[in-house]
Amino acid sequence: MLDVSIRASILNIIRELTGELEMATLYISHDLSLLGSICDYIAIMYGGCIVEYGKPESVIKNPMHPYTKSLIDAVPIPDFKMGKKSFENIVPGEPPDMVNYNGTCSFEPRCNVRKKVCKKIKTEKKVFLKRSLCLLFELGGLNWTVNLF
Ligand code: SF4
Repeated sequence: MLDVSIRASILNIIRELTGELEMATLYISHDLSLLGSICDYIAIMYGGCIVEYGKPESVIKNPMHPYTKSLIDAVPIPDFKMGKKSFENIVPGEPPDMVNYNGTCSFEPRCNVRKKVCKKIKTEKKVFLKRSLCLLFELGGLNWTVNLF
């Protein structure tokens, strides 16, 4: 990992070039706090699929997929009064076996808010109704608030 000042210099150069050359830039990272400050849009991928997509202020402040929520919860927040960050929402288990993928929600085995119905409905050809591939969120069955930035 680059040190913070070198990383900021490189990102500034990329940002300048992006403007000068009128090109798009694709950043690939697990660092949501960084992506939230430099990107126009964020796509969250899990198991080779985009599971959530939108503007950073929407995706980061109001995630609609449990995997996005877990990524946000994993961002370290320096708070000396708090001592250490709680890691109670870390995703358990292993990444999915996409060789034997059956078309249902690939996050289901690791999802801490799954319901029985999640195992039954195919999501592979599902169009984003709102912003996410999470069946329960699309149906209005999940709701949470995030205070990261
Ligand atoms: S569809 Fe169900 S199992 Fe999949 S992410 Fe949403 S709540 Fe979890």
